[in-house]
Amino acid sequence: MSLIGRSVTVIGAGVAGLAVARALALRGASVTVLEQADAIREIGAGLQISPNGACVLRALGLKEALDAASTRAEAVQLVDGPTGDPVARLDLARLRPGQGYHFLHRADLIALLLRGAEEAGVTLRLLSRVAAVDLSGPKPAVTLETGERIETGLLIGADGLHSHTRAALNGAEQPFFTHQVAWRAVIPCEPGAAPAAEVHMGPGRHLVSYPLRGGTLRNIVAVEERQKWAEESWTLRDDPIDLRLAFEGFSPRARGWLDQVQDPWLWGLFRHKVAETWVSPNGAVILGDAAHPTLPFLAQGASMGLEDAWVLADALSRHDTPRAALLAYQTTRKPRTSRIVSAANVNARAYHLSGLPRVIGHTGLRLLGRVSPGTMLSRFDWLYDHDVTLG
Ligand SMILES: Cc1cc2nc3c(=O)[nH]c(=O)nc-3n(C[C@H](O)[C@H](O)[C@H](O)COP(=O)(O)OP(=O)(O)OC[C@H]3O[C@@H](n4cnc5c(N)ncnc54)[C@H](O)[C@@H]3O)c2cc1C
Repeated sequence: MSLIGRSVTVIGAGVAGLAVARALALRGASVTVLEQADAIREIGAGLQISPNGACVLRALGLKEALDAASTRAEAVQLVDGPTGDPVARLDLARLRPGQGYHFLHRADLIALLLRGAEEAGVTLRLLSRVAAVDLSGPKPAVTLETGERIETGLLIGADGLHSHTRAALNGAEQPFFTHQVAWRAVIPCEPGAAPAAEVHMGPGRHLVSYPLRGGTLRNIVAVEERQKWAEESWTLRDDPIDLRLAFEGFSPRARGWLDQVQDPWLWGLFRHKVAETWVSPNGAVILGDAAHPTLPFLAQGASMGLEDAWVLADALSRHDTPRAALLAYQTTRKPRTSRIVSAANVNARAYHLSGLPRVIGHTGLRLLGRVSPGTMLSRFDWLYDHDVTLG
């Protein structure tokens, strides 16, 4: 199907929304992105883009921009949180040469995607908060908070965790609190830090850290199991003392980082089901967090959104009708994203072991890391080696 001149409305100028906007505009579509924010400003902290996401950015012609904005990850170092002793090291540079694992600030990823979308001719409408999505008519329609109604041939809901489009397709959803919270923070990075992700694992908690922006900044995500409820929001602040107290039993290295944190963000971790229905008969579709919100334990939120964006644009250009394209997109993406979301759920438990299972688990990892580090990494070949741009 030719996309030249076809009018498309995307809700949300996040990673998935901007990527699909560029992918469709490059194929000739006339794309408008509706974003609720008044500006695309610096918000969020570090993100990881693994090879399966990086190949989409390359296929979108954004390789140079990605290389300029990101730090290439050389290794993942597993560390015993309380003692600071190394447990296992996955040497990505040696075991997976040529594959790109990237660390970058979310704001830098959004900025490069936004430039890419605008260069491809996408129109961005800020301060355009969608208040309602109506899928009952012959064409999908949205109503903005201002009362303006927009009818469109193709409506792409890239409106994130609390998606109106997902709700219009599936009804209200009841996610459940996992009794885990995550703090996110960015601190200055010590000079000469290795471009490695360190995972410090302790009973009921873990902390992930890696350098950003050419090693000038250090990203921290610290996860704690707890009873107290916290909101599922990217924009909630917390007292740094709470964070330091939660990790007071960790090594001096980890505590030294946390001493520098001034105003962490707090984020309650909720488990959502992957959406049952992703497409409507009249031409609405969801992608990214709107379709499959994930826990952060495999660092796949952004990479899955990039994969979705490519597959959706590709399906629309390959199939004869929008309906066939949207169904093909859902059929391709639902099983893969469900598998990734399940794998992320399992990872949290492995990081937070305590008592005997912890001793056994760490000993096993130490041995495997020494004898066969490639085996540890190849468990995830299905995830990282998948290149959606090969069709
Ligand atoms: C502010 C923010 C900070 C984040 N920080 C981090 C981080 O530090 N680390 C990390 O790993 N991940 C972070 N994420 C999540 C990560 O970016 C996503 O999981 C991933 O990139 C998938 O992207 P997405 O495009 O599906 O959703 P999102 O990135 O959540 O984008 C959704 C977009 O839709 C817009 N939107 C939502 N509802 C409406 C509406 N009704 N009308 C108009 N626009 C709407 C939002 O403003 C947002 O721009 C953050 C997300 C956000 C929104």
